[in-house]
Amino acid sequence: MSKNREIWVVAEQRQGELKRITLELLGRALSLAEEKGSQVGVLLMGKSNDNLCRELAQKGADRIYSIEGDVLELYNPELYSRVVAGLAKEFEPGAILLGATVQGSAVSSSVAATLRTGLTAHCCDLSFSEEGRLRQVVPSLEGYYVFVSHSYPEMASVSPGVFPLLPLEEAGKGEVVNRELSSIEGCLEIKTSVLSFEKSVKDAVSLEDAEIIVAGGAGVGSAGWSMVEDLAEALGGVVGATRPAVDEGWIGHERLIGQSGKNVSPKLFVAVGVSGDPLHLSGVREPELFFAINKNEKAAIFQFADYGVVGDYRKVLPLLIEAAVNSR
Ligand SMILES: Cc1cc2nc3c(=O)[nH]c(=O)nc-3n(C[C@H](O)[C@H](O)[C@H](O)COP(=O)(O)OP(=O)(O)OC[C@H]3O[C@@H](n4cnc5c(N)ncnc54)[C@H](O)[C@@H]3O)c2cc1C
Repeated sequence: MSKNREIWVVAEQRQGELKRITLELLGRALSLAEEKGSQVGVLLMGKSNDNLCRELAQKGADRIYSIEGDVLELYNPELYSRVVAGLAKEFEPGAILLGATVQGSAVSSSVAATLRTGLTAHCCDLSFSEEGRLRQVVPSLEGYYVFVSHSYPEMASVSPGVFPLLPLEEAGKGEVVNRELSSIEGCLEIKTSVLSFEKSVKDAVSLEDAEIIVAGGAGVGSAGWSMVEDLAEALGGVVGATRPAVDEGWIGHERLIGQSGKNVSPKLFVAVGVSGDPLHLSGVREPELFFAINKNEKAAIFQFADYGVVGDYRKVLPLLIEAAVNSR
């Protein structure tokens, strides 16, 4: 087995187009590889990859590991994870970089567990330490944490927009390494099939542009979202959410606010059943008015709110909705 210490980027594509995050990661991977004297491999999964292989080679990738198949056309978390883990076992890259996206977050954690290696999620910078370890920087509310891994491959996910799109060289020398899906460990025993991809219907006003946001948290539970939506509508705003609400599937991922979601800067921010965790509030940029509803008077959210109601949202929201509707 070849001891190949390449830096890998796991590409994301949809309908034959590379996602911007892939090119952002490729740019950083190329500069890291130059620093280390190593090479960059891009792992590409899709239905037919010829065009994207060419594009990635032109953009400087030294090697493109291309795995094609009808079942790879749409992102399938189970299958994609098996492919990445299987190829990593075969080729032994030194580092694997993925987007801290819906796809990258699911695949990276599954692959790290399979390979029994470390993973740093949501990095905001990557460089090499003096010992040649990948220095993985993660933001916190007060500053930054710096991690290094003691196992290989070193794995990191990076949010979209962190690294600039570098003016990538038109190198065009990248070698394409094709692998049959059937030759990759575990890829024939997949239990999940993806039937279709359906685009979510976007609000007329995006979260980032909204002046009024009503954000629901875990405290809203599965049943209360219509009330959160009613309040947002009555106020002329849009709905946001914390990670647990998104993870539970109560609301779409595009509604997530915080370190791994969107940054918002509304005039009015209403938090319903939200505890006030720094990883959520780091995405809420100085609202002019911050209003919180939480049944726990000691909840941290009250330290940030201008006004707060201690109480069960099921009793408080109907009153607020009525007041908002009547004041129109
Ligand atoms: C790497 C990483 C990235 C993360 N990124 C994000 C991110 O981008 N965004 C994000 O939001 N989180 C993120 N998280 C998760 C974050 O750390 C918190 O776990 C999360 O924000 C907590 O969400 P919550 O306030 O909804 O839930 P909880 O902390 O469970 O709080 C629920 C609150 O609801 C209140 N409540 C319960 N019932 C009622 C009721 N009937 N009426 C009124 N109040 C009620 C409770 O008192 C409690 O305060 C991340 C975590 C990690 C590890």
